[in-house]
Amino acid sequence: MTVRTRFAPSPTGVLHLGSVRTALFSWLYARHHGGQFLLRIEDTDRERSTPENVEAIFDGMAWLNLTADEEPIYQTARFDRYREVTEQWLAEDKAYHCYCTRAELEEMRERQMAEGGQVGYDGRCRDRHEPREGVDPVVRFKNPVDGVVVVNDAVRGRVEFDNGQLDDLIIARSDGTPTYNFCVVIDDADMQITHVIRGDDHLNNTPRQINMFAALGATPPSFGHLPMILGADGAKLSKRHGAVDIRDYRDEGFLPEALLNYLVRLGWSHGDQELFSMEEMIEYFDIADVNQSASSFNPEKLRWLNQQYIKVTPTATLAGEVRPYLEELGYDIGGGPDPEAVVDAYRERAETLREMAESARYCYVDFEEFEAKAAKKHLRPVILEPLRALAERLADLDEWSVLEIEAAVKETAAAHEINMGKLGQPLRVAVTGAGVSPPIDVTVCLVGRERTAQRLAKAIAAIEARAAASH
Ligand code: GLU
Repeated sequence: MTVRTRFAPSPTGVLHLGSVRTALFSWLYARHHGGQFLLRIEDTDRERSTPENVEAIFDGMAWLNLTADEEPIYQTARFDRYREVTEQWLAEDKAYHCYCTRAELEEMRERQMAEGGQVGYDGRCRDRHEPREGVDPVVRFKNPVDGVVVVNDAVRGRVEFDNGQLDDLIIARSDGTPTYNFCVVIDDADMQITHVIRGDDHLNNTPRQINMFAALGATPPSFGHLPMILGADGAKLSKRHGAVDIRDYRDEGFLPEALLNYLVRLGWSHGDQELFSMEEMIEYFDIADVNQSASSFNPEKLRWLNQQYIKVTPTATLAGEVRPYLEELGYDIGGGPDPEAVVDAYRERAETLREMAESARYCYVDFEEFEAKAAKKHLRPVILEPLRALAERLADLDEWSVLEIEAAVKETAAAHEINMGKLGQPLRVAVTGAGVSPPIDVTVCLVGRERTAQRLAKAIAAIEARAAASH
């Protein structure tokens, strides 16, 4: 049997972290078993489904490289098929027309509540064969009345549902449109899905679905229901815990592999291992190892993981990744250092690509003012002579390289009998405008010969002005 899994998002919202974890687990399961992973867009809710959300789903899946093995299925393209099954079940007496009015149903419900018994459709139209004047009927599935439905859930273990607790589900509304659980079953059967991995908010739908698989004459897939992801405060993950749309994580500069690595650990583990290559995830992932309890989202850990990935991603690749952020920030890349140099200077220091790009602003954009505090502390008259000497030294360098720059700073400091830090920090403020950057030789190298000369001149002028003002 070839394993076939699917991810079946509803485009009533954007793709969020929780859905991506579901998609990832389905994808990993299929990949682990050399099977197929399919995508189904559950867009039957026409009012709330939008093309933008469908786009968001494709876009997010593509960014994360969670590739599907077949063209996506759209439920809205399958209405004929759903109608066909409805007709078939009506003919086979597996479904029936229900003519109950809203008022009747309401009354039934109130009575059931008052009696304190089970609430749900009581099946009164099961044996009615006469249409009712002026009522467009719905179609209901004849759920078995006796027995239990056993779900051998890969995550939750054995879960039993009493058929007596399940009422007859509406499968087609009075306007003929099919309902959610019905479509899911027909699709999973037609798509030959062998394993359904989804959020545990769907566990209660599962017994009804299993009954409908039986009505279709199809073997139900195996199920695995994933526990929720909570925020650090224990509440269900939502907007206030951070970005909702998975694409926001891309915009913030997370690497797709890092995000997937983070998500795979939400509810699944393999010993103590934290870092997994995609190959390892595929090799080790098993749905049976998924935890039953909810996991919580920890943004700091995600950032930490992202940094681990940034540290080891090859320079050329990372430079390609950071480039769009540099561009988005409006930097003239041609007029500054090669992004590869930025990447090498910052890979140990930045947790996200955006942070890296923002930190490197001084390499591409001239600043107006030195940061006041840093300037006050480091651009002082005592450093005027060493800075002037250093500016000259640097201007004369044969080669603009980290090594040459380092030697220039060292020798200038020694010549003025000050230690390197005493010169390095003023130099840093001079060339970056502020007090924090990579090692000074690397920083100066990044800034480039011309800008370094201009900025040192500017710093020297500022110190001169300061010295003049204090006399
Ligand atoms: N469309 C459902 C959802 O977005 C998924 C249903 C399923 O996986 O069976 O929650």
